[in-house]
Amino acid sequence: MSEATEKGGISVQTEHIFPIIKKWLYSEKEIFLREIVSNACDAVTKLKRLKSLGQVHDIDDNFKINVTLDKEAGTLTVSDNGIGMNGDELRRYICQIALSGALEFIQKYEGDADTSADGIIGHFGLGFYSAFMVSDTVEVVTRSYDGSPAVRWVCTDAGEYEIFDGEREERGTDVIMHISEDEKEFLEESKIRAILHKFCAFMPVEIFFAAAGEEESSDESQEHTHEEGCSCEECEHEHEEHEEKEEKKPQPINDTHPLWQKHPSECTEEEYTAFYHKVFNDYREPLFHIHINADYPLNFKGILYFPRLNHEYESLEGQVKLYYNQVFVADNIKEVIPDYMLMLKGVLDCPELPLNVSRSYLQNNGYVAKVSAHIVKKVCDKLNSMFTLDRAGYEKLWEELKIFVEYASLRDRKFYDRVKASILLPLCGGGHKTVDEYLEAAKEKHENIIYYATDKTAQAQYVSMFTAQGIDVVLLDKLIDTQFISIVEGDRSVKFQRVDSGVADALKGDGEVYTNDALRDLFKKVSGEEKLEVKFENLKDERIPAVLNISEQSRRMEDMMKMYRMSGGEDAGDFKLPQEATLVLNANNATIRKLGEAPEGERAESAAKQIYSLALISQRQLSAEELQRFLLESFDMVAKTL
Ligand code: ADP
Repeated sequence: MSEATEKGGISVQTEHIFPIIKKWLYSEKEIFLREIVSNACDAVTKLKRLKSLGQVHDIDDNFKINVTLDKEAGTLTVSDNGIGMNGDELRRYICQIALSGALEFIQKYEGDADTSADGIIGHFGLGFYSAFMVSDTVEVVTRSYDGSPAVRWVCTDAGEYEIFDGEREERGTDVIMHISEDEKEFLEESKIRAILHKFCAFMPVEIFFAAAGEEESSDESQEHTHEEGCSCEECEHEHEEHEEKEEKKPQPINDTHPLWQKHPSECTEEEYTAFYHKVFNDYREPLFHIHINADYPLNFKGILYFPRLNHEYESLEGQVKLYYNQVFVADNIKEVIPDYMLMLKGVLDCPELPLNVSRSYLQNNGYVAKVSAHIVKKVCDKLNSMFTLDRAGYEKLWEELKIFVEYASLRDRKFYDRVKASILLPLCGGGHKTVDEYLEAAKEKHENIIYYATDKTAQAQYVSMFTAQGIDVVLLDKLIDTQFISIVEGDRSVKFQRVDSGVADALKGDGEVYTNDALRDLFKKVSGEEKLEVKFENLKDERIPAVLNISEQSRRMEDMMKMYRMSGGEDAGDFKLPQEATLVLNANNATIRKLGEAPEGERAESAAKQIYSLALISQRQLSAEELQRFLLESFDMVAKTL
């Protein structure tokens, strides 16, 4: 290889960086305000720290941030009385470091495969520059707590700045954003209020918002100079006005001590509920909450709520808000909390996360993975403790918890393993049993089988055959239930069998079984189903002439195909699954025995047809054609009995 004749580094000029910042920096423009206000918070926090370290004395510590909108002037201003900057610092922090940060950004950005518009930056120290996404000029007027003279910096969106002597008596910083023509929406009071509410609602320094023209003009008469204690009409009036003003004292838009920062032992139930109502605008009571307060080795806090469901069809869409030191980052970040937990509602504050980073960064972050695992553990612990400490209360909530627990188990085997002893099976006859309790109660009659129904009404006849023999039938009437049982089956030696999938031994009587080949052929013929198996059993319940069973396995296969098609999968075409259907004729039933005496002729045929149709009805819904045929045949039969 020959020597290079020249070496160099690509140089980047500000006029090239600014368009990048304006267009690309963040997918949501509105976060510029979060960046500027959180810088103001940081400035206050830094000064507070210096004070607590004893490095500054005698400072006014009425710390606050004012956000002021002046529509006429076209400006949005964020002012703080924090640490401020002297001229050197301004040059270093605002004019230089940020630009080296921008370079770093460009390099990182090139290497980042994730080019989705999820917001990229924050840890490169570019937050301040996001102001240029909405402004054509940004001014900074700042004065350091160290007493140096104030400085004023004015920068255009082309990256050209000028520095002047500033006019500011008090320490602190004003960032004055001259909103550009294209971004006029950021001069709307409601818009700014909404952004502040979204991102700054829990920031740790009081934030006040005012739109110019909001305050009443103080055009009061200056002439009245009565003494204190004077009770003339004018003075009374003034006094009242003063009281009114006290009441109208501006309120900060934020709560500087959000509930999650408190220790759980210091929070009341009322506080948890009120916080839930406020943050999620949900008037309902949550089912319960989990307050996570991890210090070491993981440092994060949060409150998760199990929301109440109004009705079963309501979509389970929760909302988990992620914060970074009380600064809102985003909703529902799957990397930090497993997606199935997003059915919950809650807040998480992860101070070790960079404020705003790329998704691919989060995916590969060890801290994030540990936070996620810790949340899962906490939720499982809570469910288990409710199960052991308050079984009755837990059963009351189970209806609403069940879907979450089943879904989570399907998504995450670890979740299932942690909670499996606390999973309840609802019974058709009311009440609940765990798998262990069910098997223990059934062990005399049948082993390692759990009988279930998916529809209490449609399968009532089958259910009653079981309950009449003292066998519990579990109710699994949601689609997800039937998916969930395969996890239990995979975990331990137990089989779930739907009540109409076969005749359980416990339902059969003793003695030899009567059989009749001619009758068997008759039923086969009237059913029109070549594959139908017809057999005789002594059913304990003598009233029932016949039941139709479809084997558990073939029904599950068919259900799966149905779901596959429903979810937009390709149609399986002509391929039809063999339906393993069995018609069980009850040898103990008088009608069957009578029919067996004369299994030929038109009358026998129509009786067999009727019995078959009735067995079919209790197994599944008839198709339109089947139903029509069945009704006509029934009317015919009625006519013949007259
Ligand atoms: P970051 O906040 O990530 O460091 P920024 O670009 O937002 O990056 O800000 C750069 C620096 O400018 C800050 O680190 C801080 O030193 C200084 N700064 C910004 N805003 C203020 C402010 N309101 N008061 C004092 N210093 C500030």
